[in-house]
Amino acid sequence: MEYDDTERAREFAARTREFLDEEVIPVEREVLGSGPVSEGQVEGLREAARERGLYAPHLPEKYGGQGLSYRDMLPVFEAAGRSLLGPAALRVDAPDEGNMHTLELFGTDEQKEEWLKPLAAGEVRSGFSMTEPIQGGGSDPKMLKTEARKEGDEWVIDGHKWWTTQGAEADVLIVMARTDPEAHPYAGCSLFLVPSDTDGVEVVRNIPHVGGEVSGMSHAEIRYNGVRIPEGNLLGGLNEGFSHAQQRLGPARLTHCMRYSGMAERALDVAKAYVSEREAFDGPLAEKQAIRFTIAEAETNLHAARTMVRHAAREIDSGGEARIPVSMAKVFAANTVQEVIDDCLQLCGANGIGKDLPLADFYENARQFRLVDGADEVHKRVIAREALSEVRPEEIESITRYGG
Ligand SMILES: Cc1cc2nc3c(=O)[nH]c(=O)nc-3n(C[C@H](O)[C@H](O)[C@H](O)COP(=O)(O)OP(=O)(O)OC[C@H]3O[C@@H](n4cnc5c(N)ncnc54)[C@H](O)[C@@H]3O)c2cc1C
Repeated sequence: MEYDDTERAREFAARTREFLDEEVIPVEREVLGSGPVSEGQVEGLREAARERGLYAPHLPEKYGGQGLSYRDMLPVFEAAGRSLLGPAALRVDAPDEGNMHTLELFGTDEQKEEWLKPLAAGEVRSGFSMTEPIQGGGSDPKMLKTEARKEGDEWVIDGHKWWTTQGAEADVLIVMARTDPEAHPYAGCSLFLVPSDTDGVEVVRNIPHVGGEVSGMSHAEIRYNGVRIPEGNLLGGLNEGFSHAQQRLGPARLTHCMRYSGMAERALDVAKAYVSEREAFDGPLAEKQAIRFTIAEAETNLHAARTMVRHAAREIDSGGEARIPVSMAKVFAANTVQEVIDDCLQLCGANGIGKDLPLADFYENARQFRLVDGADEVHKRVIAREALSEVRPEEIESITRYGG
């Protein structure tokens, strides 16, 4: 399918696909069913990406990146998503990619030197620590309990978080905490850079979860027990944590959509190849109408998802927040990707759930997409609130009354 991507983006994406086919997918084959991938394997892939001029397409050149615009990196992220190892190989993997973006937007020169540079180089890892256990902030971030109080020239953080992706391996954690308990949370929370080796940072456990066999990345429960950090570790403005998080999450939601669209596209490629070769009931599966309809619907829905992502990305690229287009694209893409991958599993029969093919890992991994960065229901809440705000009370009667 042709999109209105620029010439530069197309050329970059084509080279990314070639890199995936020639370098990344062979390593994926080695680790399927026996993961996780080793640090050495990831570093080898990153070195190969650097040699091909593909490393960190989203980052400015001064950080070793390729300086693509947000819109131009879109098809490149899609191409990277074709393998579970593609995003790590190109250094466009979550959560580091979104955290680097946050540091780039709000970090001071010192913070960029200390954390963005080594993150960009792939020398350190990071986590974004916002979601909290049962009594704290989850879908409703206003319930956030973690607090940071100022003592002299230090901040002291107390709180309990979970589902911090890569939290157990991270060298630095970006922590959302209340800094003004009297204010509405949206006006009284801030972000902090917390080195993970600071006294009081307690990684309680990597929460057992479905998916992630290939990357081996943790989703950690973490306690912050009187964690003292210098005042210079405030990231961005005081009490501006939510507005900063929003600026991080909008683009990050779309980059999830891009990577997962690539995953669904690859699943379809595998399924189409399988049904073209496999025969049953006197002919190739690909000639059965039920199979053809499944493929047609998957192609159609995936095209719709990719078009929605491009529409939202265009708005963000021209400086807008694109809140509603992002929510719509995120919900639609997450559900589409999950359905397409599930259909592809079915099309491949038993091989669909076998780990000779990548589909089973895709299936396990894709389920989280309907939850991360805002669950479906929370985005639908936002979309519906906007849609219903358009109803004008004075017009209701003329719209709803017919005849008597
Ligand atoms: C794999 C994975 C990685 C993650 N990584 C991170 C991370 O790095 N950092 C981080 O901070 N968080 C992370 N999260 C947490 C994620 O952001 C939350 O799971 C998400 O925001 C939902 O919060 P919750 O899990 O507390 O769900 P809850 O708030 O407990 O909600 C439970 C269910 O109720 C639904 N619900 C809530 N409100 C309504 C409503 N008004 N109407 C109808 N339904 C509603 C929700 O949509 C959800 O389906 C991760 C989660 C997963 C699964």
